[in-house]
Amino acid sequence: MDSVGDTLQRLRETFSAGRTRPAEFRVTQLEGLGRFLRDNQQLLQEALARDLRKMEVTLALKNLHTWMKDEPATKNLLMQLSSTFIRKEPFGLVLIIAPWNYPLNLSLVPLVGALAAGNCVVLKPSEISTSTEKVLTEVLPQYLDQSCFAVMLGGPEETGQLLEHKFDYIFFTGSPRVGRIVMTAAAKHLTPVTLELGGKNPCYVDDNCDPETVANRVAFFRYFNTGQTCVAPDYVLCSPEMQERLLPALQSTIARFFGEDPRSSPNLGRIINDKHFQRLQGLLGCGRVAIGGQSDQRDRYIAPTVLVDVQETEPVMQEEIFGPILPIVNVRSLDEAIDFINRREKPLALYAFSKSNKVVNKMLDRTSSGTFGGNDGFTYLTLPSLPLGGVGNSGMGRYHGKFSFNTFSHHRACLLSPPGLEKLNDIRYPPYPDWKQRLVRWSLGPQSCTLL
Ligand code: NAD
Repeated sequence: MDSVGDTLQRLRETFSAGRTRPAEFRVTQLEGLGRFLRDNQQLLQEALARDLRKMEVTLALKNLHTWMKDEPATKNLLMQLSSTFIRKEPFGLVLIIAPWNYPLNLSLVPLVGALAAGNCVVLKPSEISTSTEKVLTEVLPQYLDQSCFAVMLGGPEETGQLLEHKFDYIFFTGSPRVGRIVMTAAAKHLTPVTLELGGKNPCYVDDNCDPETVANRVAFFRYFNTGQTCVAPDYVLCSPEMQERLLPALQSTIARFFGEDPRSSPNLGRIINDKHFQRLQGLLGCGRVAIGGQSDQRDRYIAPTVLVDVQETEPVMQEEIFGPILPIVNVRSLDEAIDFINRREKPLALYAFSKSNKVVNKMLDRTSSGTFGGNDGFTYLTLPSLPLGGVGNSGMGRYHGKFSFNTFSHHRACLLSPPGLEKLNDIRYPPYPDWKQRLVRWSLGPQSCTLL
């Protein structure tokens, strides 16, 4: 057997032996993950490590016993002496595949859920974010039980080979293109998947808005992490009149956030690699540059940019931008904006800005997306009480907080009946005279399925 096969075999044996199931074992793993973040703050981004520990590991440790409890299910008259409940059991061997843009967060937050749910885990970080990949490979395993956890490295080819093996659950974060590859590979083994994908997130700006406020909020969320965020507003939809008011506001917001020379700002990062830089530089040629537009290949710098006069057919409106470029597309009304959005794939995130609740609610009611922000950006990500997940082309499944635990748990329907008292079961069995049928229907209650 190859070394990947050996590792998977080892993890499977651990799972089959039931090691990962007791709450105490899960607590030890989660505490190990917490210690990893605490001990390695120098290595990891400090703020990120602090947030993660607070938001996800602590939450899981605090709630683990409650989350693990069997959930009672309602019964009908026939089952009064039985117990009915939902058992959350681990799937078994889970594969987590992460992207590069938040390489730590998008590896560890799913990992918290997978470990809390009692699974064995193979983590495949992105080969592009090499520094994080190194820490996750060299340091993280020291904090976890290596009989139930392994990190595997590689790019498309190695991940393709890994996907040939059977897993009991695959949690993938990345592009819709690779999402299809992962789902196709999973289908061979009928392995369930969560796909956390990307796409183009619309941002509607109503005429009834304060342009300065909108400019602050849109610019903050668009240029955060240099635009390399899956839930960032990808393009603005607004009237030509609103565009005229928004442009000067965006100009002054960008200058305030990043200074007159954004290149020297400590608050603006760089594009991850040359390939993405060249792709983004190509997009700068779409429409007309209204703000920014400067770039420098030597340090993969692209200025915070706003494009106007953009056509729907241009590349910048065809692909996820994933960089500090914000196109504005003109629409004449809210209805036209809704039609524009609904003609496209369902996005991961959708944003609507208006002083009118009616406008925001109409956008919410008439569209579909993984997440929705009214007069705000992706602040909802900071709340573990809200799930993160796409719909349609932006993915399937959800996680964060308790949603992660549920994602990585199989919900097993259980009914335990007393072994005796067989007389009571008589009404189930044939023959079925009328009085028996009536009695069964009555005892099952109006909401029951009458298969029996
Ligand atoms: P990607 O799809 O290129 O890569 C993601 C992972 O898949 C990496 O680990 C990579 O090694 C692996 N991979 C790449 N090609 C593969 C192949 N042919 N076969 C098997 N595995 C392969 O994505 P990326 O460039 O790392 O990340 C950017 C994308 O991720 C964007 O589309 C973004 O919107 C999305 N994203 C989504 C979320 C979310 O929560 N929904 C979060 C972050 C990023």
